[in-house]
Amino acid sequence: MDAGPHRGRGRVGTGGAWLIVFLMSVRPCILTVHAHPDDEASKGAATIARYRTQGVHSVLVCCTGGEAGDILNPAMDRPDVRERLHEVRMAELARATSIIGYSEVVMLGYRDSGMPDTPENADPRSFARAPFDEAVERLVAVIRRVRPQVVVTYPSNQEGYPHPDHLQVHAITLPAFDAAGDPDAYPDAGPAWQPQKLYYTTWSRKRILAMHEKYLELGLESPFDEKWFERGVNTEPATTVIDVTGFAGVRDLALLAHETQIDPTSKFWFGLPPEVAQTIYPFDEYVLARSLVPADTPEDDLFAGVAALSAPRPLRPSPVGASAPAAPAASGTG
Ligand SMILES: [Zn+2]
Repeated sequence: MDAGPHRGRGRVGTGGAWLIVFLMSVRPCILTVHAHPDDEASKGAATIARYRTQGVHSVLVCCTGGEAGDILNPAMDRPDVRERLHEVRMAELARATSIIGYSEVVMLGYRDSGMPDTPENADPRSFARAPFDEAVERLVAVIRRVRPQVVVTYPSNQEGYPHPDHLQVHAITLPAFDAAGDPDAYPDAGPAWQPQKLYYTTWSRKRILAMHEKYLELGLESPFDEKWFERGVNTEPATTVIDVTGFAGVRDLALLAHETQIDPTSKFWFGLPPEVAQTIYPFDEYVLARSLVPADTPEDDLFAGVAALSAPRPLRPSPVGASAPAAPAASGTG
């Protein structure tokens, strides 16, 4: 009687497939869209590290390989590194995302477009020159495969750093967020899946001021000049503030993994003593740009109100060093 075992295996196989589909549709998942290797470290790394401890699946979409970025660490500015910069930056990205705790990294497959008004802008392989529908469809295909409830991208106002690739990240994410849930849009990109919330990353004026004042208090030269304060004023107020107490150090470690892009002696990134830098403002800030579920802002959780999920376990990580400062109001000056 060997029919039984065969049937049994068949049932297990089918059941397993359904179980995977079921688990994927209910597992909490966040997808972030970034332009270059290192952007995932400088924007929201601690948020991802925190959600990882709550069992959230996290997917990074990195749109370019960062091939046009300068080597900003003099110790790494060597011919052997220059010759294979793409390969080096991919290895750095793998290290950084492993430190942060990303579950998966997806390269969207475009070339770094370079800073505004540089020769790289003209490269037909560049992200900024990509056929718009093609780039949106690639992102839609990732969204439909990994099924995030929450998507994070860059804000519409990027006057402070108008890199063509950063503008393009914003430009493709909005239509991709909408199209992913529309079965008539991009039918070859997989079965429709509608994310529920879309966020922009942001740095509030409050954060910049707190850091600036700490530099001055410690008798150090502040890297934040007038332009930074104007940037802070012009950005949309944060609606959502994530307490990353205990996870703030992840950002520094992830940044340092990008050896060719981050100078470990940089006053901007590492000018404050680590124990000060990690506790002075341990919050990541976001602007809720779109929500298909009732959203009660200000909020302190990117998954707040997300339907069909048991809410992620509230987590109170053990603070590193000093006790956490009071959470800032998420509205206000932002
Ligand atoms: Zn970038």
